[in-house]
Amino acid sequence: MVDLVCYRCGETNPPGNGKRCPCGEPLWIDTDATGFSWEDATEANSMWRYDRLLPVESPGGIAGAAGGTPLVRAGRLDAYAGCRVHIKDETAHPTGSFKDRGSALGVAYVLREGRETVGTVSHGNMAMSTAAHAAAFDRRCVVLVPADIPAERLSIIAQYGPELVQVEGDYGRLYEETLDLGPEFGIAFVNSDTPLRVEGQKTTGLEICEAFAPGVPDAIVLPVSSGGHASGIWKALCELETAGVIDSVPPLYLVQAAACAPIAEAYDAGTEAVSRIHPEETIAYSIANPDPPSGTRALAAARETEGAVLAVTDGAIREAKSRLADRAGLCVEPASATALAGARKLVHEGEIDAPDDVVLVATGTGFKERGGSPDVSPTRVSLDGLTGALSAVADDR
Ligand SMILES: *Cc1c(COP(=O)(O)O)cnc(C)c1O
Ligand SMILES: [Zn+2]
Repeated sequence: MVDLVCYRCGETNPPGNGKRCPCGEPLWIDTDATGFSWEDATEANSMWRYDRLLPVESPGGIAGAAGGTPLVRAGRLDAYAGCRVHIKDETAHPTGSFKDRGSALGVAYVLREGRETVGTVSHGNMAMSTAAHAAAFDRRCVVLVPADIPAERLSIIAQYGPELVQVEGDYGRLYEETLDLGPEFGIAFVNSDTPLRVEGQKTTGLEICEAFAPGVPDAIVLPVSSGGHASGIWKALCELETAGVIDSVPPLYLVQAAACAPIAEAYDAGTEAVSRIHPEETIAYSIANPDPPSGTRALAAARETEGAVLAVTDGAIREAKSRLADRAGLCVEPASATALAGARKLVHEGEIDAPDDVVLVATGTGFKERGGSPDVSPTRVSLDGLTGALSAVADDR
């Protein structure tokens, strides 16, 4: 059994469902990082190279392939962003998003405990990822999706063969209810901010820091919704600081879509806790949680690391998505493009400087969606006209 601790009040293994502290905040796994150094990392080219800091070992298979994603220097984006751009390419995962890190750890744990069923509450990447990992290890997977899930996304989730349950009503309440119902029905719910998922997702932070060792990047910028990924990365930074592996903690900048920005609003208002908002529509559907379960923890992550939480408009997100494709060759979903839009805004506001090495976390692939560039009109020629068309291209150079 692992020990669980509250990041806020320090309570260890409090009574309850093992996911929330009596103070109301989410628990995370208590990892003893004392004495850790990069030398302890194994040869594995995956998140499991840090097994010294993880509560379970790799079960192999696709779970064993999670993490170890490329960190790409994208110099052609420097002028647009206004700083030196590095991209942590999470789109390289088996199911196209960083969620595979948390699913891999969750499934590994379920296997070790001899449990039969894993569950999640998601209408997107987390559902696909959890279902895929469960399928590969012959475990049942229950995915609770909202009533209004687009058919396209439902069909991507369904191909992995999970039990799909479409639930009407308040999605935020459903999330919290599963935390209690899971233990009752023997289902290990690995929701977006539960301890196992956060623990797996902390490896994004470990990989980024190892790539910059012995230094650290000047900033890490990522989209935030539930706050699970940001919590994990913050936890990694805390562990590395405890171990004395890094001597300064890079600031975490968390980006939301302006139409649904409960954490950014709390940050601007200077409040300690994040409260539920009434959202508008945004193209960044993967980060449109109006009532983030780890919002307050994400807010603490930004403040404690001396970063910030900010919001960007759908127009800025659209533009950033195009620049990631036509200047870095990366197809990301709109939610992920907020990182570039956010970095550009932070440079404009003087928070980030031109020579800074900034890591943008490209959280998920855009290949799951239809439509890349909206208005495309290629030159059309017959085979006879090909020489003419190619000579026009050559003259263009
Ligand atoms: C889940 C997700 C996020 C947000 O992560 P949280 O842990 O919910 O804050 C961002 N981008 C993509 C592509 C995602 O799938
Ligand atoms: Zn607490």
